[in-house]
Amino acid sequence: MNQQNIKFLDSVVPEFPPEAAAEIARANYGIEGEFKALYSERDQNYRITRDDGVVVLLKIANSHEDTAVLDMQHQALAHIERQDPELPVPRIIRTRDGALSCDVAGPGGATHQVRLLSYLPGVIIEQVDHSPELLRDLGANVARLGLALRGFYHPAAGHVLLWDLRQAPEMRGNCGGIADETLRAAVEANLDYFAEHIMPRLDGLRAQIIHNDANGSNVLVHDDDHGRIAGIIDYGDMIHGPLILDLAVAVAGVVFRKDDPMAALCDVAAGFDAVTPLDVEELDLLYDLVLTRLAVELLVCAWRVANPTGLAADLEGFVAKAGDAFEQLRAVDRSDARARLRKACKFPPYCPPPGEDASDDQLDDLLERRSQRLGQKLYTFYKRPLHMVRGEGVWLYDASGRAYLDAYNNVPQVGHAHPHVTRAVQRQTAALATNTRYIYEQILDYTDALAATVPGGNAVCVFVNSGSEANDVAWRMAKAFSGNQGALVMEDAYHGATEATDALSPGDRRGNEIAAHVRTLAAPDCYRGEFRGPDAGARYGEDADRAIAELDQAGLGTAAFMLDSGFCTNGILVAPDGYMAAVVDKTRAAGGLFIADEVQSGFGRMGSHMWGYQSYGVEADMITLGKPVGNGYPLGVVITRPEILAAFTERTGYFSTFGGNPVACAAGLAVLEVLEREDLMANAQDAGDYLRDGFCELAERLPLIGNVRGRGLLTGVELVRDRETLEPAKDETVAVMNHMRENGVLVGREGYFGNVLKIRPPLVFNRDGADILIAALGRAVEDVS
Ligand code: PMP
Repeated sequence: MNQQNIKFLDSVVPEFPPEAAAEIARANYGIEGEFKALYSERDQNYRITRDDGVVVLLKIANSHEDTAVLDMQHQALAHIERQDPELPVPRIIRTRDGALSCDVAGPGGATHQVRLLSYLPGVIIEQVDHSPELLRDLGANVARLGLALRGFYHPAAGHVLLWDLRQAPEMRGNCGGIADETLRAAVEANLDYFAEHIMPRLDGLRAQIIHNDANGSNVLVHDDDHGRIAGIIDYGDMIHGPLILDLAVAVAGVVFRKDDPMAALCDVAAGFDAVTPLDVEELDLLYDLVLTRLAVELLVCAWRVANPTGLAADLEGFVAKAGDAFEQLRAVDRSDARARLRKACKFPPYCPPPGEDASDDQLDDLLERRSQRLGQKLYTFYKRPLHMVRGEGVWLYDASGRAYLDAYNNVPQVGHAHPHVTRAVQRQTAALATNTRYIYEQILDYTDALAATVPGGNAVCVFVNSGSEANDVAWRMAKAFSGNQGALVMEDAYHGATEATDALSPGDRRGNEIAAHVRTLAAPDCYRGEFRGPDAGARYGEDADRAIAELDQAGLGTAAFMLDSGFCTNGILVAPDGYMAAVVDKTRAAGGLFIADEVQSGFGRMGSHMWGYQSYGVEADMITLGKPVGNGYPLGVVITRPEILAAFTERTGYFSTFGGNPVACAAGLAVLEVLEREDLMANAQDAGDYLRDGFCELAERLPLIGNVRGRGLLTGVELVRDRETLEPAKDETVAVMNHMRENGVLVGREGYFGNVLKIRPPLVFNRDGADILIAALGRAVEDVS
């Protein structure tokens, strides 16, 4: 064992009799009074009740104590007093000569440094009941103390100290002092785990000079209010180290004799977190840090029982209760402990890291509650529903910690939990979240950035909260501008969930009549549709003539053609040449507007252009945005020309409370920045082409794969039972999707027959992801065929 480290294990505390202490106090401080010896591990402490009633504390330092370390303590107390004058900490009383301390010769001739401190009244926390309120206040006070010390530095702070938890592995050789064999083995196992798994992670945490000793006998509670902390004393163990150690020491002091020691951990941590927000890495280590602190306390005390030194203390009693607390806490499952701590501090649910081997025992209960509270018809993806707790980039993680390659979700367009977007939201939400009745710059910066994405840049924006709302208001604007009432949409289109957009969503209205003002166009499907030859574009386009004529006959006229240029609900199609221009031209000729619903195809997804419709070489009158626009922050936008907006607002007022709030704009702007910085459109092009090439290779040997199509990172894979008859392989598609899910790859399905695999990953999906996806699809199709 490290020699420096052990010095306070075997050193003898100073032994000045009360008369000698009285003489020191009289000679150096000019005070007299009643002296009472207090227990200290390595110093000698006397509480002196002066004749005038004032109580002070005389501290005679161990002769081994480093004078620089003592100086650090003095300076730290002065620093704390300046930073947080209200924080109850002892104050140094100077000597008659005005010094912070004085030296005295001990009975054995050694020199001891002496100082006098103000005495804080109160009862020590280990002697009172621990209400949740008290435990939270303990956490809060420890955090305040850490804050007060944050800017403090002293060269002695790097000293080696037995009670620095990072020294714990050094003590493994002392385990022989623990008499109980089972307990000894458990402590050894704990120290080994700590050395291997916890120590390396401590190095990456925020560190500063910390108090490091807010244990059960150094924390005071108000005499007349046991729910409040009255002070934290004893600055003798200060070190420079991870801030979380302060919290761990404090928790370890209050876990004894508890039915549920984890509840105490949670309360103290929550109190700390309310003052100094914890990093999730810190919180996840807390359970182990507390456990190891108890192990170290056990080791030191067991050693002392065998090698009695200093003033009497009930060390055996302490060993017994610390042993019990250690065993009790050790019996708690580590993942459960971390999960409870996260919940207590209002973090999102805990996600076990790889290798932790956790299981999800909540799923059934959550499903039950879900159907009770959200209705039974809200279906879930996949036969075995997924309980997701975390996302990062192209990966999603379930509650057991299993990773899934996300090739389905387009809301996190620039990747799950992208740090740039997350930070933008956090910062803005901490500053201001209000509405467009006030003037704020963020919305204008964002609108400028959006306007720059359309030719000419002469654009205005209407801000809402979802794709549905964007389409709803775009539809109203189209009617106002055109003076017409009729709509053209694709058969099976989906444009939203409001009453107006539901009417524009025949895909969701199967079996119900299509609204009287809506006409559907045959999907330009060149794989299984009516026209497949070189003239397919023009032939499908002719359907618009029919539909426009019908609207005219009905006296409605054509107000708009609304289109998702990814043709997602039609099975992800690539329209044949000439089709888009034909329908858009016919719409305009009929006095209608072209509304490009970019909820699916926008923000570079199609690889070649910012907006999906642009890849067809046409111009839109209105662009509607949803889903990916805020990378998960709810936001919807309509981009249009000033005269179209004016025609609408001349007739009606329009206002959306949350639409375009500063936080939404910060999210939206951050998404645009990431798209550009990370060149994600080019990545979509590259990864998408690579992916489709891979699928086409699979199709050469797997006949179930009938057709592979798409643009950028929007891909459809149509499964058929027979390549001649094109009989849709719906059940097989379901089976393939579930097979892939079991193998950790997420895709969806689409199309009238539900036989088209829908692949639409976040745009950070690259060739590495594509390789995983191609392999998973190959295996699934082989097994299902
Ligand atoms: N348009 C399209 C093309 C969509 O795919 C969706 C959502 N699936 C919407 C509109 C509606 O968006 P939201 O769910 O945000 O209202």
